[in-house]
Order: sequence, then structure tokens, then C-alpha cells
Amino acid sequence: MLAAGKAPSHVLKVHRILSRMLTIAVRRGLVARNIAQLVEPPTVRETEIVPFTRDETRRILAAAQARPSAVRWAVGLALGLRQGEALGMRWAYLDLDTGRLRVWWQIQRNKWQHGCEDPHACGARRHKAKPCPKTCRQHTRACPAPCPKDCTRHASSCPQRRGGGLVFREPKGRSRRTVSLPPELVPVLRAHRAEQQRYRARAGGAWEEHDLVFCQPDGRPVDPREDWQDWQELLQAARVRDARVHDGPQTSATLLLEFGVDVRIVMEILGHSDLRVTTRYTHIATPLAEEAARRMGQALWGATATGAATEKSQAHDSNVVDLGSWRSRLRESNPRPTHYECVALAD
Ligand SMILES: [Zn+2]
Ligand SMILES: [Zn+2]
Ligand SMILES: [Zn+2]
Repeated sequence: MLAAGKAPSHVLKVHRILSRMLTIAVRRGLVARNIAQLVEPPTVRETEIVPFTRDETRRILAAAQARPSAVRWAVGLALGLRQGEALGMRWAYLDLDTGRLRVWWQIQRNKWQHGCEDPHACGARRHKAKPCPKTCRQHTRACPAPCPKDCTRHASSCPQRRGGGLVFREPKGRSRRTVSLPPELVPVLRAHRAEQQRYRARAGGAWEEHDLVFCQPDGRPVDPREDWQDWQELLQAARVRDARVHDGPQTSATLLLEFGVDVRIVMEILGHSDLRVTTRYTHIATPLAEEAARRMGQALWGATATGAATEKSQAHDSNVVDLGSWRSRLRESNPRPTHYECVALAD
């Protein structure tokens, strides 16, 4: 499996499942011994995530102001939302009066499945018989391997395909949570909603209602791939090192911890599901969560930065995100119609 290019973590998982199955089989007398134990599973190094510093986060937010997705990134970074959670945010779960967001849904891309009788025949035109020539220019990344003989893939082109595409799903276990918005974000979200409503009125019958906070110009969900692309461009604009979209939550965790928020509360806010520790926690005291949200707002938009940040605050004024001018700048900088998000399309 490793030779086939599977990640060590994936191989380890498969090994564990096989081994557990075989242990049960031994117990039931179905097999003589657990052969999985004869194979040494790969060791998995935890991938090290280097979270953004506060300065970097503020730079990202400043650069985001020039993008139609500005509000999406502000909310995502401040609340430590996973990508699917941010794109799956719905107004019905967001209470701007109390400043509470229920992170109860996330958007996810599901793989398509064949709905037809004969998946192999169905994909006939798309099966790949031979590997690409060495000089292949068709593929920008690694060339895909040829199809296996009885290949049943290519379900995305099945005329009766089902189950795929973007779907809402409930987050599992602890990641289903309620979080408090930093107070700075409330007026921003109100303005965002007003613009979205104006746009919806203009779109008329073309609008597809999903109650999404962040959506495409016709109301449909934002594609996670485009969101990821947007994040990459944003990091480049902010001249911050490359990172995955998922580093967002990690950043929030560091910032919250840096501001002295209790680690248990941070876990609760970010919906971490570390079983070793989380099983003991039930509900978070709301005032503490609100205090955490307030501190996060201070960290990201506050004028009075603490410690080292104060000394260079004059020189780094461009890092300070001015929410007052957020909306107007957003509008000025995005006159072009975008496929990306409703917020830029109101004017
Ligand atoms: Zn195939
Ligand atoms: Zn190729
Ligand atoms: Zn099919």
C-alpha cells in the first residue's frame, strides 16, 4: 500500500481494522492466528501544523478586505471554523441579537455513485487502458494510473448518478457546538445580510434559497475547491506562508490560548473531539465563552494591542483591520461581478 502511494496514516488505519477483525476471527475459531500481527504497521508522524501568529492573522484579515470573501474569512478565522462549517453557515442558526452561532451543519463534497445497472459498461468511454506516455502534457499533476480491468469508477458521468455533489451534513459528536461571535463581527454580518437580501431581490427567479450566509450569486453553496483557491490567493496577497485551509482553527486556538483563555474552553469553542480529555467536559459556562469571543475580537481588530505589538503598532497600521471602513472598501475594491460570493454583488 505504501508502494502504491497511500499515506502512512491510511495504511495504519487499514492495518488496525484488519488486525481487529482477525482478533475476533481467532476468538471465534475461524482462523488459527492473526496474521496482521506479523506485519509491522508504518509509524505515523503527526503532521506538524505551524499556526499563524497574531500578526500574520491580522495581515490576512487586512488583505481579505480587498476580496469579496472578506466576511467569510473574518468569521472563519475569528471563530476557528472548519471550511465545511463556514460554508455551511445558515442564517437560521445565527442569532445576531445574542451574537451566537450554532455550528450545526457543514457542507461536504460527497462522491457520486452509479445509479445504473452496469457501472463498468457505464464508464466504458472513460476507462483508461494504457498509462500516459512519459511526455504526457494532458495532466498538470501526476498522471492517473490506468483503470483496473473491472473498473467501476467514473460515477460522476453516470446518467443516473446519485448521492454526490455538495451536501449538508451534521458534524459529528463534539464538533456540533454553539459559539459566541466577537462583538466586532455583528455589524459586519448585519451589513452582509442586508446586501445579500438586496442581491436576492435582484436575482429574482434565478435565486436558489439555501439560507446560506456565504453563497454564490444565485444562492447556491460555495464550492469548497474555489474557497480553497481563494484562501491560497489571500495568503499570497497577505504575503503569508502557504498553509492549508484547515489551519484556520489552529490559528484561533493559539490566539485564544495566548490571551489566557482556558484550554478547556478553547476546545469547546473549536469543537475539538480529543476523547482523552473532552469526555469529562459537559457544557461551557456562557459568560466565559462570551469573554473569549470578546478577547478574540480584541486580538483581531482591537486598537489596543498588547505587549510587543504595541511598540510597532504605528509602523504596522496596515495590519490593523478597520471594520468601520470594511463595507465601503469592500464595495470599492470589487466592482467586477464575481462568481464567488453574494456580498460583492449588491451594487
Ligand atoms: Zn475506469
Ligand atoms: Zn497523463
Ligand atoms: Zn453508471
